[in-house]
Amino acid sequence: MPEKTVVVIGAGVAGLTTALLLSKCPGYKIIVAAKHMPGDYDIEYASPWAGANYMPVSIRGTEAAEWEKATWAPLEDLARNHPEAECEIHRREKDAGSATADWFAELLSPEPWFKDTVPDFRPLPKSSLGPGVDAGTVFTSVCINTAIYLPWLVSQCLKNGVTFKRAVFSHILEAAGPSVCPGKVDFVVNCTGLMASKLGGVNDKTVIAARGQIVVVRNEAGKMVDVSGTDDGDGEACYVMTRAAGGGTILGGCYQKGNWDSQVDPNLAIRIMKRAVELCPALTGGRGIEHLDIVRHGVGLRPVREGGVRIERERVGDLWLVHNYGAGGAGYQSSYGCAQAAIRLIQDAAGPQSRL
Ligand code: FAD
Repeated sequence: MPEKTVVVIGAGVAGLTTALLLSKCPGYKIIVAAKHMPGDYDIEYASPWAGANYMPVSIRGTEAAEWEKATWAPLEDLARNHPEAECEIHRREKDAGSATADWFAELLSPEPWFKDTVPDFRPLPKSSLGPGVDAGTVFTSVCINTAIYLPWLVSQCLKNGVTFKRAVFSHILEAAGPSVCPGKVDFVVNCTGLMASKLGGVNDKTVIAARGQIVVVRNEAGKMVDVSGTDDGDGEACYVMTRAAGGGTILGGCYQKGNWDSQVDPNLAIRIMKRAVELCPALTGGRGIEHLDIVRHGVGLRPVREGGVRIERERVGDLWLVHNYGAGGAGYQSSYGCAQAAIRLIQDAAGPQSRL
């Protein structure tokens, strides 16, 4: 079987995971071409900004749930040498119908689909719930340190012979052109995230930004916590995540649909820190936000797609396009499942190559 050439557009978690898993299969020459690479921080590049923990949000019975389910085991395996942390989910009845509570609908369920996927899932005893919290659950989760995970994905790809190239495409078909690869390209895999909304030949207007603002601090909370909502407006959220391997603690946040503003809102930053300290007094030993030791403030845009992630194949002339974009706030926790689904589409079109 002659080697197939695959150009993956995008070096976020979607593109890198797809390239890495495909590089484990024989018969493919893989080039990752992207405007942004690990090490960059930019509003068009969501992956470095993520928490990023495993906190499933997909609806029971959907393909998205299968993709999140398929991602737990590889992430848990990677985390084995690092301490896993408990993740508490707090539900307040008064948040019902808010943007955050809708986003977290399955997460807030006392019987979510993932209760047998993650270890130690159980309800929180009523006595342990803070004021205003009506119910809660807790389970063991992992939290990825994106600053080391993305370069690690690159290093694993390089080890398997994947090559990397900086490139900015105005049309998807440019990725199959001679500036990327002088020979014939068989597949272009579109992992452009939010920018799929602006890429020529794709222009998917169902992909929109859901703005997230975070504060990274050196303080430790000892656990991860997520609440169904806040008292500060519909688009605001409250969560605390501790990244693995000294990556600091992420205080969040918000979920502002349609907002592309790349600048930190200082008032929102204060609200985020106040809510976090109230939720996890251990962060500052019961003291105020002036005792938070800030590493940085950040803003990232989640690539939310109406109808969920697009994993599809299409034929243009003698070229196959395979899409894997639009993971919203779940790009890490569904990364393996989505990459595997995209690779199946490549393998089915490429003929009987070896399976994953
Ligand atoms: P991106 O990371 O945006 O990468 C897109 C790539 O495509 C980049 O390399 C870019 O340069 C390239 N590209 C785009 N257009 C072009 C072009 N025209 N030419 C060349 N290259 C191009 N997810 C979780 O699973 N768990 C979490 O806890 C979590 N927390 C989050 C918290 C925040 C604040 C935010 C913002 C997101 C969070 N997410 C989380 C979501 C996660 O970050 C995204 O789903 C994920 O990063 C999307 O990855 P991606 O590879 O699809 O896109």
